[in-house]
Amino acid sequence: MDSRLSAWALNVSPSPTLAVDAKAKALKAAGEDVCGFGAGEPDFDTPQFIKDACVKAIAEGKTKYIPAPGLPALREALAEYYTEKKGLKDIKFSNIIVSPGGKFSCYLAFLATISPMDEVIIPAPYWVSYPEMVKLAGGKPVFVYAGDESDFKINSAILEKALTPNTKMIVLTTPSNPTGAVYTKEELQDIVDFAIKHDLYILADEIYESLVYDGVEAISPASLSSEAQSRVIVTSGFSKSYAMTGWRLGTICAPDDIAKAVASLQSQICSNATTFAQYGALEALKRPDLASEALSKMIVQFDRRRLMFYEGLNSIKGVSCRRPKGAFYVFPNISSFGMSSANFCAKLLEDELVAVVPGSAFGSEPNIRFSYAVSEQTIEKGLERFARFCSKL
Ligand SMILES: *Cc1c(COP(=O)(O)O)cnc(C)c1O
Repeated sequence: MDSRLSAWALNVSPSPTLAVDAKAKALKAAGEDVCGFGAGEPDFDTPQFIKDACVKAIAEGKTKYIPAPGLPALREALAEYYTEKKGLKDIKFSNIIVSPGGKFSCYLAFLATISPMDEVIIPAPYWVSYPEMVKLAGGKPVFVYAGDESDFKINSAILEKALTPNTKMIVLTTPSNPTGAVYTKEELQDIVDFAIKHDLYILADEIYESLVYDGVEAISPASLSSEAQSRVIVTSGFSKSYAMTGWRLGTICAPDDIAKAVASLQSQICSNATTFAQYGALEALKRPDLASEALSKMIVQFDRRRLMFYEGLNSIKGVSCRRPKGAFYVFPNISSFGMSSANFCAKLLEDELVAVVPGSAFGSEPNIRFSYAVSEQTIEKGLERFARFCSKL
């Protein structure tokens, strides 16, 4: 026996964002006054009408297995959402899978399409889990980079340089975690054209689709044409838009063959996502009036905090911050201080008890990530401490 652990286990790294959050929580528990900006989850409660529907489902005994790909009524409602709200064509309930979380949706999408040796182009800054998931699916992550100067957005010219005969897929996160960038229709068209020309899939992670600001719209690359739709796998979920992180409910909207494969994989790996949780999610879709009221309240607050950070960070000497258009993160550039992002963040936590995630975790050394899923008081205090920290460097 070479090792007690598998090659997969030896090869996978733990999530650095969860690690920062855990460290901040441990310091807090020890009585320290920590400003934690590590967490990637809304600080709002799940809307009451969604909770009520779930409680009702439990009371009615909706506590048994359902078909592995999800509650039929929820899949129907999601198919309607993609057709009517997102501009995809003829999405049927068989194109929809409800999974145990947006994260698991991404993993299933890789498992369904990636074979050993296949390469997946991951644009950095990237969400921390993609490279590990690609490796767990047996594939090879290939990184391309677009930094501050291009608003963290890649294009076909950048993709071209990473293309090999083994390239199978491109990952696109729009709106993006960690950058908050949102691709425009023209930018997506360029990438979709590239994918079509080279016969590639696109994994479009749209988990932040509802959290956009400055009047921008989160467009799905799948909506651009039927040819696009035939090669885009859209993953999303309820965690961010409805403040339902703990419910573990994700979605996949995929072409027939891929949706079928995803359903088979899910049926063998975990059966259905929690039954009564899906009744809560169904209510979210069946009551768009209540859902949009709850969402608007969240967005108003997120937007205020976004601008506090955007203005506050840019007023600090040596720090520059792009204006994020979506999600709930700011990703300022701190390279002028001449420290690695990991050292910078470690020192920031030690000196000022401010917890942020180093850009290196997302494949972008010049930056650090603050989550603004925290109160305005915390942001005010955090910015004050951060400014003091920077002024001493
Ligand atoms: C939060 C997040 C997800 C999924 O989260 P779940 O809690 O698994 O639903 C997926 N992609 C990105 C980029 C995220 O930030």
